[in-house]
Amino acid sequence: MLSNLTAQPQDKILALMAAYRADPRETKIDLGVGVYKDATGATPVMRAIKSAEELLWKTQETKAYVGLAGDPAFSAAMIDLVLGGTVDADRLSAVATPGGTGAVRQALELVKIAAPRATVWLSNPTWPNHPSIVKYLGMPLAEYRYFDSQTGDVDFDAMLADIKAIPAGDIVLLHGCCHNPTGANLSAEQEDQIIAALAANGAIPFVDIAYQGFGDGLEDDARFTRKIASQLPECLIAASCSKNFGIYRERTGILMAISPSASLQAVTQGNMAFLNRQNFSFPPDHGARLVTMILGDTGLRSTWSSELEDTRLSMLNLRQQLADELRQRTNSDRFDFIAKHRGMFSRLGVSPEVVETIRADNGVYMVVDSRINIAGLNAHTVPILAQALATALK
Ligand code: PMP
Repeated sequence: MLSNLTAQPQDKILALMAAYRADPRETKIDLGVGVYKDATGATPVMRAIKSAEELLWKTQETKAYVGLAGDPAFSAAMIDLVLGGTVDADRLSAVATPGGTGAVRQALELVKIAAPRATVWLSNPTWPNHPSIVKYLGMPLAEYRYFDSQTGDVDFDAMLADIKAIPAGDIVLLHGCCHNPTGANLSAEQEDQIIAALAANGAIPFVDIAYQGFGDGLEDDARFTRKIASQLPECLIAASCSKNFGIYRERTGILMAISPSASLQAVTQGNMAFLNRQNFSFPPDHGARLVTMILGDTGLRSTWSSELEDTRLSMLNLRQQLADELRQRTNSDRFDFIAKHRGMFSRLGVSPEVVETIRADNGVYMVVDSRINIAGLNAHTVPILAQALATALK
């Protein structure tokens, strides 16, 4: 049986990580994988997480199963963090999932049950796991235009035109904030226009929010998601705690669904719990419990949010430095968009040849589509990247 298997296509980012590890140059710079790194290149356990873990170790008396939907206190805390009271609880369903990826997968499986013929519309480009999971589930897939690589900004007219043309009942996957891989995001006014288009055509939004707190702050980053949830009749939301709590390997995420009416909530919740049961039964609890403890305790919450804020500001700082250095070294404003982008990533809009040149000549590793992880930089390496790019572009 196993002899029937053929090799799966290699994940580009994992291949890049392997190439980086194999590179003997001490000066190499890793701008590939999407993990936050501080100025020393470490991905630290956040202070609030350490404190919550200590407390949990002292007080937790059982590791017996929780429930198929996870701990209701986790759902309540995350609903509050993401939606901030904008939606009535009686229309809201939620289940804990293994990371944001688990939430995306469960959301798509829910769509498959409820609307098997619906097409899933993804931004072009998007996080590669989106099309990968949609295809794996055998669901119809289509793309709406999103990014203008000339300006480094959202190609808004094209995006709006494509969204307006989506048929009623199809699913539109939108990034809640900090678009991955481009770093380009909608303005508040543009968000309103997208919401109006969805209200008019009856397509159903599915928001993936994996970087709340990495862009303009916890509240601002939730703005688009909250408007969608409160203004449109129904939506799905996949949220990840991997980045903003720094608990990548704990696999902590949540799927929320907002039903058009309270009478539909129980059956939606039941289907989501059913899907958990089929795929992995009980969701992981450790990370979810830490998140619940932090969000529910004034002291831990303020420690967490100030560390998250420091993280956010350090990335903004690096963005500004890189944009300034590139302005100087290329003698142009071509890369000014880097300072305007938000989140951990920016797509530079340079060719695969340029990406390869700076990898070969300078040991700077970025994804072939020219996505860089801003957090992979520090004050010392920003000028190195800027010079490498300027030279390669000459
Ligand atoms: N959605 C997007 C857009 C992401 O970038 C990520 C993280 N790479 C996720 C979801 C989920 O990540 P995780 O499963 O690690 O929580």
